[in-house]
Amino acid sequence: MDISEYSYVVVGSGLLGAVIAERIANQLDQPVLVIEKRDHIGGNCYSATDPTTGIEYHKYGTHIFHTSNEKVWNYVRRFITFNTYQHRVLSCYKNRLYPFPINLATINQFYNRNLKPYEVEDFMASLRQSQLGQRADGGRRDAQPAAGPPTAGAPTNFEEQAMSLLGRDLYEAFFKYYTIKQWQVDPRHLPPAIFNRLPFRTNYDDNYFFDRWQGIPEKGYTHLFERLLANRKIKVLLDTDFFEIRHLLKKDACLVYSGAIDRFFDYKHGKLSWRTLRFEQEIIDKADYQGNSVINFPEAEIPYTRIHEPRHLHPEKEYTGNKTIIFREYSLADQGDNPYYPIASEDNQRLLSLYRKEAAQLKNVFISGRLGDYKYYDMHQTIDRALEIFETCILPQTSTIHV
Ligand code: UDP
Repeated sequence: MDISEYSYVVVGSGLLGAVIAERIANQLDQPVLVIEKRDHIGGNCYSATDPTTGIEYHKYGTHIFHTSNEKVWNYVRRFITFNTYQHRVLSCYKNRLYPFPINLATINQFYNRNLKPYEVEDFMASLRQSQLGQRADGGRRDAQPAAGPPTAGAPTNFEEQAMSLLGRDLYEAFFKYYTIKQWQVDPRHLPPAIFNRLPFRTNYDDNYFFDRWQGIPEKGYTHLFERLLANRKIKVLLDTDFFEIRHLLKKDACLVYSGAIDRFFDYKHGKLSWRTLRFEQEIIDKADYQGNSVINFPEAEIPYTRIHEPRHLHPEKEYTGNKTIIFREYSLADQGDNPYYPIASEDNQRLLSLYRKEAAQLKNVFISGRLGDYKYYDMHQTIDRALEIFETCILPQTSTIHV
C-alpha cells in the first residue's frame, strides 16, 4: 500500500502513537501508517540488550512502569508480562547512602534517632517550627495530620511545598541542589506538583511510587512496542521525518501527532523550552557496581543527578557475566532535538495556550502525548490519554468495529 493511501496516520512510535495505532489496527481493523523519525520504535521507552554485558538497558533512562489505573494495567498486560521489580532508590549525601524518597529510615539515619512512626510528626513539626515557623502538613495527599503552628496558606512553589513538609535540612540535603541540577532554575520557580511526584512517608515503606501496580516488561520495553505494533495492518516507517513526507499523505487522513506541538505549527508563536538528558555510559569490570538500579546524587558539587545500573531491573534474570553497565545521568537544556521534560513556566504556558488554540481549529488532527500536550506524563498517563483519544475521538467516526 502506498503511503498516500492510508486513512490513518500516526506520527511517533512512542507510547501514545503505538497504543493508538494498535487500537486502529486491532479494533477498527484499518490499515495505519506509523511515521518514526528515529531508527527504532518505542520513543524514550526504548530498551536494548548491551552487547558486551548482555544486560537489558533503557537507552533514554530507567523507566519503571507503575499505575493504579486498572484499565491501563489490564490493557498493557494483554501484550506482555511484567516482572515483580519494585523501584527503591538510594540517595548519596556526603558519601553516605540514604533510603529515598524520604521515609522513617531516612529521617532516623539523617538525625541519628530512633523515632517511631507516631513520633515523626511531632519531631518534624518542631524542626519546621525552629527552621521556619510555617504550615506543617504541606497539603500533601499522603501527609499525616500534624501538630504544627497555624497554617499560612497553601505552598505555591516547589521549595515552599518541600520545606513545609520536611523542614530546611532534609530539603537542602536531598532536594534543593538536585532540583537545581535537574531544572536549572530556582526551586521557588517550580510548581509544588513536581515535588508531589514523590512520596514522603513516616513509616519504613521505601517504594518510589504510590501506585498499586508496577514492574518492568520481562522481555524489555521494546518487546511491548513490537507487540503493540505487530498487526500486519500497521506499517512502520523508521528514519522518516513526518515533515518531509507530509505532502505525500492523504489530505483528509486522520492524523495522530505525538511530536512537540510547537514544531507541528512550525514554531509560529515561538519555541517551547524543554529539559533533556545526557547519559554517559561505562562498562565496569565488576558483576555489580552499586547494588541498586538507581542511586541519586543530590549534592551541587557532583555534576550528574543519578547513576543507573540496569542489571538490577531484572531480578528474575540471571546475568552470569562479571561485567556490568552503568549510566551517569546529566540534565541539560534541550536544543530542539531530544525533548524530555516540559518546563512549567508562565512563558511556556502562554505559548502552549496559543498552540492549543491552533490545534483545536484542526479537523481530524489529534496532537497529544508528553510532547504534544507539553505535560509531564508518566507512561500510564500517556496510555490512558491514548485510549481516551481513540475511544472518544477516533472510534465514534467509524461504524466498523472489531474487538
Ligand atoms: N528530586 C529531588 N531529589 C531527588 C529526586 C528527585 O529533588 O533525589 C526532585 C526533582 O526536582 C525531580 C522531582 O523531584 O525533578 C521529581 O522526581 P522524579 O524522580 O519523579 O523525576 P523523573 O524520574 O521524572 O526525572
